[in-house]
Amino acid sequence: MAQDPGWLQEPMDYRGKSVTVMGLGNFGGGAGAARFLAARGARVRITDLKSEIELAATIEHLHDCNQLEFHLGRHDEADFTNADLIVASPAVPRGNRFLHAAARAGVPLTSEMNLFWLHNRARVTGITGTNGKSTTTALIGEMLTAAGRNPRVGGNIGRSLLPEVDQIGPDEDVVLELSSFQLEDLNRIGVSPQVAVVTGFSPNHLDRHASLEEYRTAKQTILRWQKPGDIAILNADDPDVAGWTTRGRRLLFGRSPSGDLSARLDEESIVCELAGTNAEFSFCTMNQLPGRHNRMNAAAAALAATVLGVDQNAVREGLRRFRGLPHRLQLIHEVEGRRFYDDSKATTPEAAIAAVEAFAHDQPILLLAGGSDKGIDLSRFGAAIARRVKAAALMGETAPALQREIRGSSAGDGPVMHCPTDFRAAFSWIVNQSTAGDVILLSPGCASFGWFSSFEERGEQFASLVNSLTAESLSPSPMLSNDA
Ligand code: ADP
Repeated sequence: MAQDPGWLQEPMDYRGKSVTVMGLGNFGGGAGAARFLAARGARVRITDLKSEIELAATIEHLHDCNQLEFHLGRHDEADFTNADLIVASPAVPRGNRFLHAAARAGVPLTSEMNLFWLHNRARVTGITGTNGKSTTTALIGEMLTAAGRNPRVGGNIGRSLLPEVDQIGPDEDVVLELSSFQLEDLNRIGVSPQVAVVTGFSPNHLDRHASLEEYRTAKQTILRWQKPGDIAILNADDPDVAGWTTRGRRLLFGRSPSGDLSARLDEESIVCELAGTNAEFSFCTMNQLPGRHNRMNAAAAALAATVLGVDQNAVREGLRRFRGLPHRLQLIHEVEGRRFYDDSKATTPEAAIAAVEAFAHDQPILLLAGGSDKGIDLSRFGAAIARRVKAAALMGETAPALQREIRGSSAGDGPVMHCPTDFRAAFSWIVNQSTAGDVILLSPGCASFGWFSSFEERGEQFASLVNSLTAESLSPSPMLSNDA
């Protein structure tokens, strides 16, 4: 169904065409698009504001690709107006002036994900939500793998499936993590996955989306173009998502006692009830995946896998095998009785609240929080820190706002706080506050930009600081001092 005439609506013959890929990035999408187009004989120009040095790793991956021309460190309008097609990274706001220039010159626009969709023949399971997308996507992949299927898992999780799209047969399983930006683009061509999973919805990316309404509208693309017979798997405990509609069939997962749940959880297990068949999946094998939020992710994944025809034993085996993803509440090391967790991927307040609440209520937590400002309300995060945290190192742009929120929520008994000027200082301060038995948690609740180039880099720096700790460097706990 044609939606937006400015957007590529059908596959084209790319041979000899001049295509500009805007935004190579380091997440695989730009490179995937370039590889796909070059293999089809297009003349591909890659342009990115980042320099060759910043993009070195991605460029190296493309060394075997012919027909590529790089215009890095800047954008030239001519690359947009003298082209047959523009492929824009989801990171580029669609109001960008170069994209406008292309539109004025009548050059169609597309994205790596849209190209995949236009060429793909297989059924797609798509996963979105503010938090839990990657974990749920990877869990579904693990369950399909345990069933002996060979799922193609990609999208926003960091892998482009576009270069392999022609090898994906119509009966294979494609599992895609979809961000709000990718969904916004898919809306231009009017497509939704046959099986759609929504993990939850809360404010995010308000620096890019004009309003909460716009962010929700983008996310709802995952259901908007579903057809009768398609399936929507929705979080019943999220009052927003529970009300989302589809032309397909709605299946709900959650804890809420009321409602017609297809997957019901308690503290011990998930019970899936589909087409009159009951299956119970115990959490006791899921010890690599702590927290209530991960049990919700497991329920969503178990339901999706069951819908995809995975048998009960393979769902169980998938849950057992799954080791979690890096930078998501990942135990890095235990040093002198202190456990260090990397939850750098917690880039939203809700994600960090989920991490803080994943530990037993009497577990002392020392937290590294804060980062760049996406314009999101930090009051609930501040309240959770005030309630649960013993000491907090507050980092980056959001440090002062977080400090205010924490103070406002603590009745004189709040955590010790410090706003260091760099990450190394934050780490040594927090380690100095610790004693044996403590959890030291990096769960920033904010994006990493400013101090780091990505959440991965933030997590890696944390891990390397942890790994350089020795028993001697952990001096006895000093008197706690509060600079607040
Ligand atoms: P996403 O891909 O949506 O960013 P991830 O699975 O990568 O989600 O998890 C990111 C962070 O969000 C994790 O570090 C964890 O703290 C938190 N998280 C994961 N699942 C949930 C959930 N269902 N609800 C709230 N927070 C979650």
